[in-house]
Amino acid sequence: METMVAEAIYDVAIVGSGPGGYTAAFRGAELGLKVALIEKADVLGGTCLHVGCIPTKALLFNAEIWDHLQHAAEFGIGGFGTPALDWTAVQARKNGIVTKHTKGLDFLVKKHKVARIQGYARLTGPAVDGVHTVDVTAPGGEVSQVKAKNVILASGSEAKMLPGLQADDKILTNIEILALGQAPKSLVVIGAGAVGVEFGSIFRTFGAEVSIVEFLPRIVPVEDEEISKELTRLFKKRGIDVNTGAKVETVEKTETGIKVTFTDSNGKTQVKEAEKVLVAVGRAPRTRDLGLEKTKVELARGFGKVDGAQETAGPGAFAIGDIVAGLPQLAHVGAMSGMVAVAKIAGAKYRPVRKDRIPGCTYCEPQIGSVGLTEAQAREKGYEVKVGKFPFAGNSKATILGDHDGFVKIVSDAKYGEILGVHIIGPQATELIAEAVAVLELEGTVEEMMYTIHAHPTLTESLLDAYGAVQGMAINA
Ligand SMILES: Cc1cc2nc3c(=O)[nH]c(=O)nc-3n(C[C@H](O)[C@H](O)[C@H](O)COP(=O)(O)OP(=O)(O)OC[C@H]3O[C@@H](n4cnc5c(N)ncnc54)[C@H](O)[C@@H]3O)c2cc1C
Repeated sequence: METMVAEAIYDVAIVGSGPGGYTAAFRGAELGLKVALIEKADVLGGTCLHVGCIPTKALLFNAEIWDHLQHAAEFGIGGFGTPALDWTAVQARKNGIVTKHTKGLDFLVKKHKVARIQGYARLTGPAVDGVHTVDVTAPGGEVSQVKAKNVILASGSEAKMLPGLQADDKILTNIEILALGQAPKSLVVIGAGAVGVEFGSIFRTFGAEVSIVEFLPRIVPVEDEEISKELTRLFKKRGIDVNTGAKVETVEKTETGIKVTFTDSNGKTQVKEAEKVLVAVGRAPRTRDLGLEKTKVELARGFGKVDGAQETAGPGAFAIGDIVAGLPQLAHVGAMSGMVAVAKIAGAKYRPVRKDRIPGCTYCEPQIGSVGLTEAQAREKGYEVKVGKFPFAGNSKATILGDHDGFVKIVSDAKYGEILGVHIIGPQATELIAEAVAVLELEGTVEEMMYTIHAHPTLTESLLDAYGAVQGMAINA
């Protein structure tokens, strides 16, 4: 192993094996590059597979089934007795999914003949004669060197903590909350981005008393304002206590759990007590201990600055995924930015990642899927904006599913009819948004989409009606 690592000069050495790193590795191999994938953990897959997207969505599906069972009688299905939650089995299923996909990555690394190296990577400086040297500290402490013509930094991010706090069995980040021995009976969630609202939604479904405390004036603050408003309404209907414009003052541990004191939007002090608190106030890029200070890589508040090919100011040094400045921290952004970087390295064709073409999905109940400009952003950019909105209440498939909440909102440019943004809250919003991403990618117009046939009865017809609504011509509302 030492011989291989010491003597080989790889075309690219990738630091981190999350969705950014492993996608770059496999696509790099497909493009004919000789690839080394360096990962400090003993498993591949990063945050996404182990403590992010996959385990949370597994739990959300359990929550969805639980929800359906509560309403089974409505669908003429009975004879269950009282549904009971077997938390150990819930955890085992979730862990089984993670293990299956971890093995899948082990297989793919071998299939693509990627050299897998376990250890903590640090750059030793800029490339010398076109070759970068990366120090890799193995779990046992021994240091070896990996040489490569290019490096891709894909070290990801970690949960930010509130000042003075430390994660433990009561103060949780995404890592601890995914490994709980029991579902909490009460939970305060600090931060109402995707991570916060998803966990709040899961544990509310399982019966917990949930309070959300958000500093900004609205929950899911990156979404269109109407989406935030609708989610707030529907969360409140589900019995979730939503506090916005709220500044957390203290988080204290009590004998039974925790006590969160905050100043509410009216300036009043409020106290929420619960078994656990989830701190979901954003994710910090892991760029501190990568040896970057010895390179030309430039950082902006800890995030790597890159060009359209994901290349940093250091020639041959690329950054992808959660550490990149100016892109949302999402698994599919990591994956696509990885594909762009290796295409550039291999001299293949690529298209830069466009921020306004990235779908954002939040898998709470109800789900949110959005892409492109919000109404406010479109107006700020100077567009003459025309909006169409269609409620799921008018969609026959939504009636069949018994899931009528939410709407589809189209933001378009009045002059040419170009669709600038699509914002969906409601059933299967995270799947429905795929159509809108393709429409934006192809610069589709309202008129083109009004004459695009959507199968009946499907939830996608709500998009068809929403395009029509832009012209005041929805059929079903
Ligand atoms: C609870 C939660 C739910 C989420 N749900 C979704 C979702 O549904 N959809 C979505 O798109 N996104 C979701 N995300 C975000 C998503 O997980 C991240 O955007 C994604 O994992 C980023 O990928 P990455 O490759 O940049 O980094 P990561 O996945 O963080 O991987 C980085 C890897 O680099 C390794 N590493 C770090 N430093 C070094 C070093 N110096 N040497 C060697 N190895 C190193 C780490 O061990 C890690 O394995 C979620 C995040 C959280 C926390």
